[in-house]
Amino acid sequence: MPELNRVAERLRSARRVTALTGAGVSAASGIPTFRGADGLWKHVRAETLATPEAFDHDPKLVWEWYDWRRGMIQHARPNAAHDVLARWTRERPQFTLVTQNVDGLHESAGAERLIRLHGSIWHVRCSRACAAGRRDWLDTAVPQPRLPPLCPHCGAIVRPGVVWFGESLNPKDIAAASAATACDVFLTIGTSAIVYPAAGLVHQAKRHGALTIEINLDDTEASDVVDIAIKGKAEEILPALS
Ligand code: NAD
Repeated sequence: MPELNRVAERLRSARRVTALTGAGVSAASGIPTFRGADGLWKHVRAETLATPEAFDHDPKLVWEWYDWRRGMIQHARPNAAHDVLARWTRERPQFTLVTQNVDGLHESAGAERLIRLHGSIWHVRCSRACAAGRRDWLDTAVPQPRLPPLCPHCGAIVRPGVVWFGESLNPKDIAAASAATACDVFLTIGTSAIVYPAAGLVHQAKRHGALTIEINLDDTEASDVVDIAIKGKAEEILPALS
């Protein structure tokens, strides 16, 4: 595909490159996206479970869903898309990787300086933000011995260390991601580009004069915004560009 050669050449010559990834990057590792049909769990839409309201209403149900997702992700391995992006973080000091994914596969692939906008499914924190449990801690037990799990410090319910719909992002993470939009090439990969503020990054990059490129199986909200929209699988396109 001549377009791929042109993009590969632009990537080679670019100094600052930033990539934003979404659930589509992990699809080939067997992790369902939110908006695909296989993203449903017990016929419930993810968007209705990944909210503070759902957790307040029924923490056990929300934790059953997270336990199911953690069980699915536990044995998943990074795919070729994670591998290429991780290599770029190691080989290109001016490459910034920003992800909306919470699965830990960029980290497993060896990505460095990763900006995780939506937290990590492998971290938890006290829902009451007690003095001892205010910070996230790693808890990789699958299945959880008790649902919902309780804070070892104060006994309140523990919540997943992710950012839910309607919650604010960590200001440091969004500031770092925002700063990285001042780049020569900005890639938006495997994301439906619906969830803000992450979806706003491609617009910022454009305003900074970056060449903006989308890699996705389908058209998204970003397809008409970017300079080049490449339709295809991230795990096939990225190796072809590297
Ligand atoms: P999304 O489910 O809204 O969209 C996924 C996108 O990936 C779609 O546009 C789809 O066309 C595309 N896609 C599917 N397979 C692909 C492939 N092989 N190559 C390229 N593109 C492919 O996901 P999103 O935009 O990341 O949604 C936002 C929220 O979903 C985030 O908050 C994120 O935390 C959460 N989420 C994370 C995971 C994960 O960590 N793996 C999984 C599901 C949802």
